[in-house]
Amino acid sequence: MAGKRERRKISDEERKAKAAETKAKELAAWVPKTLLGKKVLAGEVTSMDEILKSNQPVLEPEIIDYLMPLEEKMIEFKKTTRVVRAGRKFSFRISVLVGNKNGFVGVGTAKDNEKWPAIKKATRKAKLNLVKVRRGCGSWECTCGIGHSVPFRVTGKTASVKVTFLPAPKGTGLVAGEAAKDVLLFAGVQDVWTKVGGATDTRLNFVKASIDALGKTTRMKVSNAIGKKGGRKE
Ligand SMILES: [Zn+2]
Repeated sequence: MAGKRERRKISDEERKAKAAETKAKELAAWVPKTLLGKKVLAGEVTSMDEILKSNQPVLEPEIIDYLMPLEEKMIEFKKTTRVVRAGRKFSFRISVLVGNKNGFVGVGTAKDNEKWPAIKKATRKAKLNLVKVRRGCGSWECTCGIGHSVPFRVTGKTASVKVTFLPAPKGTGLVAGEAAKDVLLFAGVQDVWTKVGGATDTRLNFVKASIDALGKTTRMKVSNAIGKKGGRKE
């Protein structure tokens, strides 16, 4: 029994190592198509914040891979089967959440007839959908000044789901549903209170509404940098 568990653990690690190796190989073979990509590869641009400050859109996910390590998690998996004349035809619809646990989080959804290409496409999309999250200590009960919570109350909406995050004092933890918790963890928020509406909706919409809410701390999306002209209220 113990031997079996150990074997499984090793193969899990091996799988992770292999995935990291593949990623590194892919990144090493990256030929940038955009000017920004070329600058990143040349070491002229070295951080996401620099990119956001200069208002340059990120159109290649490799730019993000190059600048910061991201964690990935599949949050939705749908397999549909159609019966066609030649037999069965599968279709996959997959959503992936990505984040660096330090102020950047995004989600992407993609479809494909095969599982792995669908995951890959969704991950690429998630990277281009990254939003910057400003963390803070907005709770009047806590004056530590460290970015462990949200700086102020933010609300996001997707379909029928409405998610509100409220600043919470240090040590509160993530008082949130599972989908919102994933997003908060990936964004690097540690303490927050949540209010939710539309409880019958899909997990994906809870994730999207949570990201929408967190994005309102900065209104910065990497694919369009500071956003549409005139769209900023500050
Ligand atoms: Zn605090």
